[in-house]
Parts: sequence; C-alpha cells; structure tokens
Amino acid sequence: MPLERSHTGILGGGLSGLTVAAHLEHDCEVLEADSRPGGHCMSVVEQGLTFDAGGPHIVFSRNADTLAFMLSLLDGNLGRGRRNNKIFYNGRYVKYPFENGLFDLAPQDRFECLRDYISNTHRAPANFKDWMYHTFGTAITEKYLLPYNEKIWKVPAEQMSLDWVEGRIPRPPLEDVIKAAVGVETEGYQHQLFFYYPERGGIQSLPDSMAKRVRRLTTNFCVRSVRRTGDGWAVSDGDREYRYRRLVSTLPINEMAHRFEGVPDHIKACGDSLRFNSLITITIGLASDLLPDYSAIYVPSPELPFHRLSFPAVFSRQNAPQGKSLIQAEITCMPGEGMWRSDDSDILKRVVEGLRAMDLIHPEEICYAKVIRTKYGYVVQDFTYRKHLAELKSYFERQGVALCGRNAQFEYINMDQCIESAQKTAARLNEAARETMAEELCPQ
Ligand SMILES: Cc1cc2nc3c(=O)[nH]c(=O)nc-3n(C[C@H](O)[C@H](O)[C@H](O)COP(=O)(O)OP(=O)(O)OC[C@H]3O[C@@H](n4cnc5c(N)ncnc54)[C@H](O)[C@@H]3O)c2cc1C
Repeated sequence: MPLERSHTGILGGGLSGLTVAAHLEHDCEVLEADSRPGGHCMSVVEQGLTFDAGGPHIVFSRNADTLAFMLSLLDGNLGRGRRNNKIFYNGRYVKYPFENGLFDLAPQDRFECLRDYISNTHRAPANFKDWMYHTFGTAITEKYLLPYNEKIWKVPAEQMSLDWVEGRIPRPPLEDVIKAAVGVETEGYQHQLFFYYPERGGIQSLPDSMAKRVRRLTTNFCVRSVRRTGDGWAVSDGDREYRYRRLVSTLPINEMAHRFEGVPDHIKACGDSLRFNSLITITIGLASDLLPDYSAIYVPSPELPFHRLSFPAVFSRQNAPQGKSLIQAEITCMPGEGMWRSDDSDILKRVVEGLRAMDLIHPEEICYAKVIRTKYGYVVQDFTYRKHLAELKSYFERQGVALCGRNAQFEYINMDQCIESAQKTAARLNEAARETMAEELCPQ
C-alpha cells in the first residue's frame, strides 16, 4: 500500500499554488511541471537584461491589505512608478486610456469622439461590441476600442458576452471626457495609475519570495493523471505516483477534465468549449538607450503585428545595463493558429519591421532577441462560457477538489486576486483539517 506523501497535494507551482502552500497549516506538497516555480510570473535574466517572460507584470491592487502583503513579500526590493501609457493612433501617441487622451488626437478626430460620446443613442448592450458603442459612442469605439479589442482577443466582439467588462472597464464621467477633449489633464483607471515593480529580478521575485515559505516543492513533475483512492487521491506523472488526502488544483480546468479519471463526457465537453487565446512575447535588447520613457504603447492598427509594446527598463532601471534598453512586443493568437505556427525567426522579423515602421528602433542596434510562447494568455468569455464553467466547477467541487488560480478558475484575474483566492482556499482547508483532527481526537 503506497504511503501518503503529504496531507494536501497542490497541482501547479505558479503564484496561486505557491500561495496556497505558504498559507496551509498542515503538511503539503506543490507539484510543478516546469523546472522552476513561478508559472506566468516568470522572468528572464540573461546577458544583464531582465524582463517578464509572459508580458509586463506590474504590482497593483484595489485591496490595500493584499497590496501591502505583496509589497511585504518583495521586502524592499521595489520601486514605485507612475503609468505613462500611450495609444499609437494614426501616427500619434495618445494618452491612455483613449477617452482621457482626446486632446492628443487631430482636431477632427477629437471633435468626432466628443460629439459621439455626448450624443450617444446606441441601444442597451447585448454583447461586448454593443457595449462599446453604448458606453463610448461610435467614434471612440471605431477608432480605438473595437480594433484594439478584436486584435487582442482574436474573436469578433459580438461573440463576447458582457461578463468580462462588468466592473472592469469604468465609464468615465462626462466632465472628464470634455476636459480631456479641451486639454485639461484627467486620469482614468485610477487603480493602476501608480504601481510597484521589483528593482531587481523582475516579477519572478514575487513567486520566488513566496516559494521560500513552501516546505515541499517538487519541480519537473507534469501531472498526467489523477485518480480517486478510497478517501484520497493518487497523482501520477507517468513514472511516479504520489498520494494525498486532499487536492488543490491550479491547472487549467479544461485540461483537468481530461487528466482526472472518470470525468463524464458532458463535463469534458464543457471544458473543450472554453475559449482562450495564446500569447507570444518578443523581447528585443538594444545597444542604445534612446527608447521613449513610456511604460506601454497600445497598438490598435491591424497593419502592425503586435497589440502592445512595453519597456522593461522603464519598470526598473536595473532591467538593462547603462547604455542598453529593452522593448517587448506582445502578440495574441488562437491556440495553435495564426502567428503561433510561424518560426520564431519569422515572428521576430515581422516585429522588427513593425518597430521600424513606428520609428522606435534601428535594427543594427539589436543586441538580443527572444521569442517566448505562452499557451494560456487570456480567457475569452463567450455566451456559453458562464454556464459551461459553472458545470465544470461544480463537478470538481463535488469531487472535493479545490480550484484556485487564473486558469483553474478560468477567470481574468490578476496576481492580487490569485493571492486572495489562494489565501481563502488555504483558510478553508485549514478549517476543515482542524475539524477532522478534533473529530479524530474526540469521536462522537
Ligand atoms: C499578458 C499578461 C499580463 C499580465 N499582467 C499582469 C500584471 O501586470 N499584474 C498582475 O497582477 N497580473 C498580471 N497578469 C496576471 C497574472 O499573470 C496571473 O494572474 C497569475 O500569474 C496567475 O497565476 P496562477 O498560479 O494562477 O497560474 P499560472 O501562473 O499559470 O500557474 C500554473 C502553474 O501550473 C503549472 N502546470 C500547468 N500544467 C501542469 C501540469 N500538468 N502538471 C504540473 N504543473 C502544471 C504551470 O507550469 C504553472 O507553473 C497578466 C497576465 C497576462 C496573460
């Protein structure tokens, strides 16, 4: 009879899995497929350059306690920055968010955006596309919001539900939009206006710090199958099989439906129906430091391959040595489709052409380049998403598996929300373990 390895097995060693483990009071083990923990919060440190592998990651939160906790993890290794994002529209750099940057537009564009924002008769929205027209009017939608969103999501906006916008994209006050159009400074998305970022080591410093609080972490363990064993679970990577009393999963829930034994076909079908896009990051090091001091540039134009550019050395000067700089481009694709199929060298070539067209780089200054692919970028919330996700979640919850993290919950959640979810998961498991112990000591 194989022995139990730990009381609780935690599948996946990204920020969520590590946070659960760091908060559990009883023994547990994190199983991570990669050779190091961190998941989507990994950073690359090479040739004196530092950048986040899965797109730029800034530390912010609406929850003051969570923010304070994240900053305490960084233990002084942090700097505070102020957002300086732009939108590249018709050759101009427009302040972000667009509705707060109308003064940067050509006068005719500015007029149209303001006119359509004020006299907007678009019907109550039934989908994301309608919502953009209804909330922002025709001009802001057609000049920026619609092309940018269809570029990043890779799905027609009318196929997306209202789920993901609700509570996420604030409607700016009319007064702010008028002020923005006449050139009085206003700020949108206030909760991200100021942010923190590690001075050294990139965002990986956050999971690294959490990993120090984890007692048992096994890397290079790719969970291939999970099965029930009486009152526990057996988890296998094909060679090794480990046993646990309780399970927490941070793995993509659609994949769990295929890795757990005995999952009914209709539940697997719910998992297969969930949509997401994949992400390619292309990071280029330059032997010059002439890049602008923008934190990011949003690029709605369909002629340019990337939807966003960012500048890692703006987040921390330590991310590039003196005299050098970094620029990172992000491209989304449907899984296995479009640009995903291209060779890295072709992707890089297209990105360099795009950056040249924007007059941001001189190719002869390139001293470093790296293309990184991330299978799970953003969850796409279409019309069957809520229903199918609820069925999947309820199935795994009935089995007693705790789901935690961006891909297990299959929600658009950031690091702070992953940490909050992991803390709640750990608290529930701690409570349950205490009750079990009390029952074992004093049987009724
Ligand atoms: C482009 C982009 C930019 C972002 N920017 C920000 C930002 O600025 N600020 C912010 O707060 N958040 C940001 N986020 C969100 C943030 O990255 C996530 O919320 C967070 O990293 C999710 O952590 P997680 O542990 O839930 O998932 P993951 O990081 O995906 O961790 C899951 C882990 O499970 C492992 N795994 C998968 N399959 C298996 C298997 N079969 N066996 C074993 N292990 C497995 C993976 O290797 C991974 O380590 C961004 C996300 C994206 C996509």
